[in-house]
Amino acid sequence: MKIVILDGYTENPGDLSWAEMEKLGELTVYDRTSLTDVNEAIQRIGDAEAVFTNKTPIPEQVLSMCPKLKFIGVLATGYNVVDVDAAKKQGIPVCNIPTYGTTAVAQFTIALLLEICHHVGHHGEAVKEGRWTTCPDFCFWDYPLIELAGKTAGIIGFGKIGQAAGRLMKALGMNVIAYDEYPNDSGREIAEYVSLEQLFAQSDVISLHCPLFPSTEGIICKDNIDKMKDGVIIINTSRGPLICEADLAAALDSGKVFAAGVDVVSTEPIKADNPLLQAKNCIITPHIAWAPKESRSRLMDVAVDNLRAYIAEEPINVVNK
Ligand code: NAD
Repeated sequence: MKIVILDGYTENPGDLSWAEMEKLGELTVYDRTSLTDVNEAIQRIGDAEAVFTNKTPIPEQVLSMCPKLKFIGVLATGYNVVDVDAAKKQGIPVCNIPTYGTTAVAQFTIALLLEICHHVGHHGEAVKEGRWTTCPDFCFWDYPLIELAGKTAGIIGFGKIGQAAGRLMKALGMNVIAYDEYPNDSGREIAEYVSLEQLFAQSDVISLHCPLFPSTEGIICKDNIDKMKDGVIIINTSRGPLICEADLAAALDSGKVFAAGVDVVSTEPIKADNPLLQAKNCIITPHIAWAPKESRSRLMDVAVDNLRAYIAEEPINVVNK
């Protein structure tokens, strides 16, 4: 069986091994494939039976031009890059990786929050630049330093990652409240569920962990920011379009929002004119919450399991049943 990986670089830049995948067939791995020219994907898939993609689109046109294709694996949880309905019509299972990065994304949420509270990177650099050596006092700081204990964290989307982040916030002494369309018992053990309006009104820190749906797109917009406490902190490790970036940039510049930490933006890679790039007190990281080696290693294992299960004619993690 021929297996093609269209964009393997971010999953495995060289610190993992494709060996288990190689045991399942004749494997070709491309680091990247054009996101805009479908012909490149068509040509690279060719007569392969199985393809894996992370962010390279697989629209209906690719499926119709690659009639030997019988399996599509997504090297991610989100599978919006694949036309899953067209694949279903052709009897092709699309298999994703439902859970691999829960602990990593929750940890990164806290990393962004703690960076806002302490600016460890900035102060470390300032010391190396000699600022401490020449300082008249025994210490100095360039930003307000913030203690989180006793403050209220409001989590929007209290699923696997939201709850893991909630547990870490509780360990920091925070009071955790949550909004979710589907409250559950494991969530109730960590936090009090509240309405979205209550969450906006009560939270000192708001962290986004809901999926991107039409109903959640732009959930952080001017109208909702107006309902928040002055000086609120906003963290987004979920999906960029949850935030109306122009509205958040304006709120950061006015001080209504004290700071933001975002690992995801509306268009990735980030565009040079993204308003958050110029906004005050905004930390932006390049979509790395998912990417510790431990987390990518789990992703690799599940990708191999998905293909193995397809070969055994008992596909798992199928999103287009
Ligand atoms: P999950 O499905 O376990 O949790 C999502 C939660 O959101 C569920 O509890 C669901 O009920 C809730 N929800 C659905 N619609 C909602 C709405 N309208 N309002 C409020 N809550 C709603 O998913 P997860 O594993 O916790 O992942 C959460 C998100 O994290 C993913 O959707 C993805 O966008 C993002 N993510 C980001 C990275 C990264 O590297 N930055 C990596 C993995 C996942």
